[in-house]
Amino acid sequence: MATGTLALPTPETIAKYEPVIGLEVHVQLATNTKIFCGCPTSFGAPPNTNVCPVCLGLPGALPVLSKAAVEMAIEAGLALNCRINPFSRLARKNYFYPDLPKGYQISQYDQPLAEHGSLDIEVNGEPKRLGITRVHIEDDAGKSSHEGFRDSDRYTYVDLNRSGTPLIEIVSEPDMRGSDEAYAYLTVIKQVLQFVGVSTCDMEKGHLRCDANVSVRLKGAEKFGVKAEVKNLNSFRFLKLALDYEIARQVGIIESGGKVAQETRLYNPDTGETVGMRSKEHAHDYRYFPEPDLVPVRVSDRWLGEIRSRMPELPSARKKRFIDTYGIREYDADVLTSTRALADYYEAAAKASADPKAAANWVMGDLLGALKAEGKEIHDSPISPGQLGELVTLIAKGELSGKLAKEIFPRMLATGQAPGLIMEREGLRQISDAGALEKIIDDVIAANPKQVEQYKGGKTAVAGFLVGQIMKATRGQANPGAVNEMLRKKLA
Ligand code: ADP
Ligand code: ZN
Ligand code: MG
Repeated sequence: MATGTLALPTPETIAKYEPVIGLEVHVQLATNTKIFCGCPTSFGAPPNTNVCPVCLGLPGALPVLSKAAVEMAIEAGLALNCRINPFSRLARKNYFYPDLPKGYQISQYDQPLAEHGSLDIEVNGEPKRLGITRVHIEDDAGKSSHEGFRDSDRYTYVDLNRSGTPLIEIVSEPDMRGSDEAYAYLTVIKQVLQFVGVSTCDMEKGHLRCDANVSVRLKGAEKFGVKAEVKNLNSFRFLKLALDYEIARQVGIIESGGKVAQETRLYNPDTGETVGMRSKEHAHDYRYFPEPDLVPVRVSDRWLGEIRSRMPELPSARKKRFIDTYGIREYDADVLTSTRALADYYEAAAKASADPKAAANWVMGDLLGALKAEGKEIHDSPISPGQLGELVTLIAKGELSGKLAKEIFPRMLATGQAPGLIMEREGLRQISDAGALEKIIDDVIAANPKQVEQYKGGKTAVAGFLVGQIMKATRGQANPGAVNEMLRKKLA
């Protein structure tokens, strides 16, 4: 198939076909050191400074497998509902690349660490379970950067800081049937792995990378079509756009009597198209063989049990518990468990408050809104969960009205001070005390004889005006419920 701008088929034609998608996701594990040596994994160090003979691939240097990396990979496998194999092996995957100094990647082949997992997604309210084929560990390559524009100053630089960084590869079953399902799958993968703490999944730093395999078949057909693999999908949006383009492209080829080529393609965000990069390589091209410099990985029941016992609660379980324990709505529970940091914040605020539902509203509305406006994340919040809980409790106990609380909140945000403290200092406590209110109400009644006359003559709506006068006299601090009740009694 020639490249270049292609006339894509109409939506009606595309709708005759069903896309089949499987994703291969690479995730950088959050270990402090590399997978086969003690070099740091820190991001942004000057080029070629986080290196040693092992990760430079110097002859004779021997790898030692990081226990922390294996444990994190096991945690990821458990979080993705995989079976953890008691015996797995590392394998050499041989290929030449300038940023791969060893001449091979150390990965896993026929005996991976984890298999037979699954992940639950929801698209348009429809739940669906997607299969995960395997999760295996491997090392990352270095990075090439191509710089300069003219022939005379065009160079490619190799930075080996990333060489030997621990990765897991998560291979899905070909279970997705549209770009929206692929998008949802990647979203949940990111959420779950962040919750477990095995990766930051920061796409901008390349901690989460995705290759998409896609084919199309006529709806109702049983056999899968020939697939293409699309690489270079470094954002969620690009994943969706690239898949939609690729689906349309393949339908166009088949509709015009052609055949889809099995190949690796690259997505170009500038044109929104995918272009052929190379014909698909096969497993045998890599000359896989068991890594002779490393012993197999044995995971005992005891070790697995220890890891399992310290796994944090996963987002789906936490969401359910939030609904059951704190009585919040499903939608709210979804938002509040979107990241572990947010879930931790909310839970601490809910526990510190007398009203967990109100706490959810404050976190999702006022707090997240204010943080977003300043480009901040929940962990930057100047208001601690305890302080937010205190604010909610002051309202629940009637010491603050909702209106006064909205005045105090921005001051908490600006100063990081506790709401009780601000309330006392600025004299913002709600006046519920009958004695204090009585005097003010009497004054207002005395000052507005005409309205009192009207009220007694049956125009009870003027009570609203009188309440307004009382609120004004107390600078909004009177408890409106108490004022209403006392006023009506006095006028009766
Ligand atoms: P390969 O041998 O070409 O690497 P695999 O069977 O290992 O292919 O699968 C790689 C990925 O492609 C997996 O995520 C899998 O779900 C997906 N996949 C396999 N066959 C198809 C297909 N016909 N259409 C779409 N995706 C597929
Ligand atoms: Zn090293
Ligand atoms: Mg494969």
